[in-house]
Amino acid sequence: MHFDEICAYEKQYVMQTYGRNEIALVNGKGAHLYDSEGKEYIDLTSGIGVNCLGYQHEAQVQAVCDQVQHLMHCSNLFYSEPMACVAKELIESTCMSRVFFANSGAEANEGMIKTARKYSSDHYGNDRYKIVTLRQSFHGRTMTTLMATGQDKFHQYFYPLPEGFVYASASDFEEFKTHIDEHVCAVIMEMIQGEGGVVPLDQEFVKQVSAYCKERDVLVCVDEVQTGIGRTGTLFCYEQYGIEPDIVSAAKGLGGGVPIGAVLCGEKCADTLQAGQHGSTFGGNLLACRSAQAVLSVVNQPSFLQEVKEKGTYLKEQLLALHSPAIHDVRGLGLMIGVGVDPEKRSGYVKQLQEKGVLVLTAGADTIRLLPPLVITKEDIDQAVACMKEVLK
Ligand SMILES: *Cc1c(COP(=O)(O)O)cnc(C)c1O
Repeated sequence: MHFDEICAYEKQYVMQTYGRNEIALVNGKGAHLYDSEGKEYIDLTSGIGVNCLGYQHEAQVQAVCDQVQHLMHCSNLFYSEPMACVAKELIESTCMSRVFFANSGAEANEGMIKTARKYSSDHYGNDRYKIVTLRQSFHGRTMTTLMATGQDKFHQYFYPLPEGFVYASASDFEEFKTHIDEHVCAVIMEMIQGEGGVVPLDQEFVKQVSAYCKERDVLVCVDEVQTGIGRTGTLFCYEQYGIEPDIVSAAKGLGGGVPIGAVLCGEKCADTLQAGQHGSTFGGNLLACRSAQAVLSVVNQPSFLQEVKEKGTYLKEQLLALHSPAIHDVRGLGLMIGVGVDPEKRSGYVKQLQEKGVLVLTAGADTIRLLPPLVITKEDIDQAVACMKEVLK
């Protein structure tokens, strides 16, 4: 189908909840994408941080094709080799003890919140349920994760929303502390606020929050839906902050394009949710886990993670070397990079970049967000930067 026809169908039949770019992507290879009219792009979006192995990665294609030819789904009422293997890999690579599989980031965060509430109710009764999240955070679109999201603009129209969420400063520890009272059971943080504008939290702040909460048995929960699975140059970003969380959520990059989410629980709450207390029909199905297995076999290698760090540093340096007055700052870790620009001009930049064959994301009010496939080459980075040089003059 050609773009005009696809576009006409969508405009008539699909709920208009997204501001879409005016192209339809149909094919990809490495970090390159092709639209319905055959135009080629360098992808700095990865389908919002999802396609970490890029497109047509051999290990992933083989694994997924093999799984499709055997069994795609069998429900959580049966044992599953791919799930067992992904669980083993995740747990042995982290300070966590057990994992629950979901289908998305929001769903993983729901599981994280349920675990925190149950842990607190088991140990302290029903009056210790409040969850502190950070201003400008983003945790998902379900009713509860919306309420966990520390940005009011997401809440309007949808009240009543679940109770028990409190928003604290993402940088001022003294302000943060004022929200921790005897009713608080957990705090949730993103190490780098992704949707909020690619804003890395201060390491000292994170360490202080973690220590303060641990002293009070307030669970330290880290939302690694965007930052996880090698995105920032370590399997999870919390590793670079020197903390040991009690619960970690993951999703986006984990399946490399097949929907999957995960809740990783440390020792404290590894056995908090018992049979019948949580579940999901599709969660961690065979196809999703098989794809995740392929993703981890590639991404969770020291040399691969080191390359992500190096390519991230290289991309940041190249952007800074443009000395463009249009670039206000460059933030982020690994291949999760935010470029601060004039908010009025941002959508124009995105459009011009697309015309020149470079796809980028936005975040917050004034940020161009770059989440390239982790397999992107230096040559592709150079080419993308050359286009950015022309557009961000
Ligand atoms: C994308 C994102 C989510 C929501 O994930 P979905 O898969 O869209 O439900 C939650 N938390 C963070 C930090 C995210 O970036």
